Amino acid sequence: MGWPEKTVLALLPHVPKFALRRVASRYIAGETLESALAKLNELSARGHAGIIDILGEDVTGEAQARAVVAEYQQAATAVARAKLDCYVSVKPTHCGLRTSEALALERYRELCRHCAPLGLFVRVEMEDYTTTDATLRIFEALRAEFTNVGIVLQSRLFRTPDDIAKLKPGPLQVRMVKGIYLESATIAHTTPDPIRAAYVACSEQLFARGARISFATHDEGMSRDLVALVTKHRRAKSDYEFQVLLGVQEPLWSRWREAGHRVRVYVPFGPEWQPYSLRRMRKNPEIVRHVLRQTFGLA
Ligand SMILES: Cc1cc2nc3c(=O)[nH]c(=O)nc-3n(C[C@H](O)[C@H](O)[C@H](O)COP(=O)(O)OP(=O)(O)OC[C@H]3O[C@@H](n4cnc5c(N)ncnc54)[C@H](O)[C@@H]3O)c2cc1C
Repeated sequence: MGWPEKTVLALLPHVPKFALRRVASRYIAGETLESALAKLNELSARGHAGIIDILGEDVTGEAQARAVVAEYQQAATAVARAKLDCYVSVKPTHCGLRTSEALALERYRELCRHCAPLGLFVRVEMEDYTTTDATLRIFEALRAEFTNVGIVLQSRLFRTPDDIAKLKPGPLQVRMVKGIYLESATIAHTTPDPIRAAYVACSEQLFARGARISFATHDEGMSRDLVALVTKHRRAKSDYEFQVLLGVQEPLWSRWREAGHRVRVYVPFGPEWQPYSLRRMRKNPEIVRHVLRQTFGLA
């Protein structure tokens, strides 16, 4: 990365909101539920299933957590009414985990109860390592009551193979990710190759215990190993899918679709788009160049 990109990265939080909004529109459906539904419909017309995510995390207090779940319920009802192939994905700290585990569990229960009769699935997302134990406990409690619930596991963490081994027997739906939170070398792999190797190994462990896996990645090289695993374990098309983030590596989605794999797109929306977009931009120097062009007219 050259000095202009490094400078923009440092200045990103101060970039004018209009410029940020224009670039962010690639990653975010918009601020409203209507904008998310429009994006999901557009993706559906292109053959992609969806995941709906309301932007936000780290809410505190019961009232805020209840309000978040009410918004998710409204989104779920709208998705079901529109007959979209789409489910909801929710962060534990958006459900109040920072306040208490019991509060977050209750909010997830409410959401699962709402989504079950609508035929909608609920994904419990995974955040930084301080939340992993509580998130797994919440997931196991939900899994004992509902069938429309799944978890996310991060290959970056050393603990993940043990976590997989400890999950109770029974049907299991896992979104496998590398992990977006940069954890310390005492608890996590910190370089790309070991994270990739762990991803493939965890996926193999999950297939061996009969899980259905959502491969959430844009890593085309690694995807070849994942497809080899699918073949080795003779898994049906319905046993796995690729999941991608809105606006990230779109040509790859088409290549996967053309090869016959299902692709599901993560569609975030909501007024809290700024921190999410900044995270996306920090990840990709190409986009930083785009910000430069839009803001200062520089190539
Ligand atoms: C549907 C979905 C849900 C997720 N849910 C979670 C979760 O609950 N918890 C969690 O910790 N992580 C989650 N993640 C993020 C995940 O952990 C990784 O951080 C992210 O997917 C990047 O890893 P990668 O496998 O795509 O490989 P990388 O090697 O990081 O990326 C491969 C290529 O894609 C590009 N790329 C990847 N991500 C981005 C991006 N965000 N913006 C721009 N370019 C990008 C890279 O520049 C690179 O060229 C999710 C990811 C997806 C796709």
